[in-house]
Amino acid sequence: MPIFLECDRCTACCRWPGQVKVSEAEITQMAAHMGLSEGDFIGRFTRLNANRSGLALTDQANGACVFLEGDNCRVNPVKPQQCRDFPNLWNYPGSEGICRAKPVEVAPDEWRRRIQLATGRDLPAPK
Ligand code: SF4
Ligand code: SF4
Repeated sequence: MPIFLECDRCTACCRWPGQVKVSEAEITQMAAHMGLSEGDFIGRFTRLNANRSGLALTDQANGACVFLEGDNCRVNPVKPQQCRDFPNLWNYPGSEGICRAKPVEVAPDEWRRRIQLATGRDLPAPK
């Protein structure tokens, strides 16, 4: 049975070092959500990503994502796909030691439903 990782909303993934890459479409959505022009949004909240191939969100002084406010994401309804996909569709060595998502065994249809809800993607369940 596939394993779905249930997020604990601990916000650790919004605080650890790295970058949140953002696409043009995501910038459009987040700017609209905040009532800003895309130019203002880009100037205030983005920087070049590490390999200079596009934009990423900036960080707060403590290293947390610029949009983390207390335990909440200021752009939660339109947060970037990279944030939606973690931890079920990507992770990296060591992240399982920090992320508190709870693994639950679910039926394939349920995995598909939960993934769709969390990420917006319609994917076949892993075998
Ligand atoms: S955009 Fe929101 S969910 Fe993504 S890292 Fe920033 S605070 Fe976290
Ligand atoms: S995905 Fe993991 S690290 Fe991020 S908020 Fe959920 S439990 Fe915490």
